[in-house]
Amino acid sequence: MIYIHRRETPRVLDLEDSNSVGAKEYIEVIEYFKDQNRNFPFKAYKEVKDILVDMFNEKCAYCESDISPVAYGDIEHFRPKNAYQIAKKERLNYPGYYWVAMDWNNLLLSCTTCNRTYKKNQFPLVNEANRKKKHDDVVTEEPLLINPCDEKINPQDHINFNEEGLVIFTPGDGGKGEKSIEVYGLANPKLTRNRKKLAKEITDKKNQILRFLDNIRLLLAEPLKVEYIVILENNFKDLEIVYNSLKNFTLPTEPYQGLVRNLTAEFLAEYSPIINKLLFEFHEQKK
Ligand SMILES: [Zn+2]
Repeated sequence: MIYIHRRETPRVLDLEDSNSVGAKEYIEVIEYFKDQNRNFPFKAYKEVKDILVDMFNEKCAYCESDISPVAYGDIEHFRPKNAYQIAKKERLNYPGYYWVAMDWNNLLLSCTTCNRTYKKNQFPLVNEANRKKKHDDVVTEEPLLINPCDEKINPQDHINFNEEGLVIFTPGDGGKGEKSIEVYGLANPKLTRNRKKLAKEITDKKNQILRFLDNIRLLLAEPLKVEYIVILENNFKDLEIVYNSLKNFTLPTEPYQGLVRNLTAEFLAEYSPIINKLLFEFHEQKK
């Protein structure tokens, strides 16, 4: 999981604008929940699906898997709109966070696995005594879950990935990393398999790059014999291809950026200047 910058509130959910779909629903909802505690047909949030898909680069906010082209993805309410539970086996409490069902800041894009198999209605707090149960309760609750759009939290202070692609939480962080991994299912076997595969590809590419760099250094250490010119050129060409494909993994549209950053940031910081210089000189010389 990585931090995703939330865009400006779409006009359709601008709660300050009394004509917006969101503001109209908000008024209805407050009225409805005066004497009801479930079954409101929330729908305003559905208006912003395309914006969320774009904002999250078609990836799940929690597990960072690609959602398209195999699925549509769910609009996920960080604070559950219908009912909440403290843990999966605990009872459901009604109503849920009805007053933020149409609040832009409560909406994420999620894959169906994270949303429907794992998180569901779970919403544990750091301190259950501070839970806000009605729209006009004056309490400040602190979620135990990490919201990828929370500007005050960097998910990578809590959740990281090792060379094998396994997810690890930061001990002593107040339990947010560990709880988020559990609730979002970030250690689930299929997801782990995908991340392991990517981690291996990254490690292989880093090793290849180091090998090409070694070859190039050796060849350049002495005056170049004619028969080695082609070998040197091929090493440069291969270095460029593999280096570019490693950098491609870091594009924001690529899945599992949390893992990618953990496995490439240091390597790229150390070797990019060296590789860029070598490749620049190689291309200059070819001109
Ligand atoms: Zn997911």
